[in-house]
Amino acid sequence: GAKAKGRGAYQIFEPAMEEEARARHALEADLRGALEAREFHLMFQPQVRLDTSELTGFEALLRWKHPSRGMVSPAEFIPIAEETGLIVPIGEWVLRTACATAASWPDMTIAVNLSPVQFRARGLVAMVTSALAEAGLAPHRLELEVTETALLDDSEATIEILHQLRALGVRVSLDDFGVGYSSLSYLRKFPFDRIKIDRSFVGTLGESPESVAIVRTIASLGSVLGVETTAEGVETADQLDFVRECGCTAVQGFYFGKPCPTAEVGRVIEKLSAVRRVA
Ligand code: C2E
Ligand code: MG
Ligand code: MG
Ligand code: MG
Repeated sequence: GAKAKGRGAYQIFEPAMEEEARARHALEADLRGALEAREFHLMFQPQVRLDTSELTGFEALLRWKHPSRGMVSPAEFIPIAEETGLIVPIGEWVLRTACATAASWPDMTIAVNLSPVQFRARGLVAMVTSALAEAGLAPHRLELEVTETALLDDSEATIEILHQLRALGVRVSLDDFGVGYSSLSYLRKFPFDRIKIDRSFVGTLGESPESVAIVRTIASLGSVLGVETTAEGVETADQLDFVRECGCTAVQGFYFGKPCPTAEVGRVIEKLSAVRRVA
């Protein structure tokens, strides 16, 4: 009967689920010590504006080098950091480190990802203010990237925090636009400085008329609203031509550069300035 079937199902799935839960717990335990053990570092990916082909700045991307497992993908550890609340101290480290690093660069922006969990924690605006002051970074050089999931719950409070951040002079981008819970009402509720079109659309431009239509639509929406539109995940010259033709105002992707360590940022700045002189 049902009981026997249930037990049978357990016998099949239990070991695999237990294994998965154990692995996750181990990773969570390791994540708790990772900040103190200095296992995190940042990588920086160039962002380019399309009208002048000028390098405008970099996005800071978090990396975790686990002592025995090697590099762990943010796709794997960020969700755990969010569920445990560890993203709050880790995110603070990212912001302070990114601002301090960018302060020594030429006048370019540094984009930093913010987790929805950081919005629910107290003191985000004070922390951003302090990170800027400590680094000596002008607020207009910081761009904060938020996803739509940050705006889903408790939206009044979140919108208020976004306004306070913008009042500091910091810019705010809507990341991964077009996937998940996309709602055009967010664009009316809050004046974003930039929409970043999710790379899943850019990556399928060649084979999907739907992706073409979506990229075009978001780019014209941005143009009407007076909001910059960045195409994420541009890897080829064809994709670059295409998103430019669609009216996107900026790009980020492997075509112009993969995320690189701090030590290579200077070389990337030189290389992309040379491209601009030729173009
Ligand atoms: P994101 O903020 O949308 O960052 C862009 C991701 O796309 C990065 O992956 C980047 O390496 C990848 N990417 C950029 N151009 C290309 C391309 O041309 N082709 C392909 N295949 N990929 C490209 P990454 O570094 O693995 O980060 C994944 C996500 O993890 C980020 O997506 C962001 O949501 C999250 N993340 C990374 N660092 C942080 C952080 O410091 N804080 C928070 N809260 N989230 C972070
Ligand atoms: Mg981002
Ligand atoms: Mg994105
Ligand atoms: Mg993403």
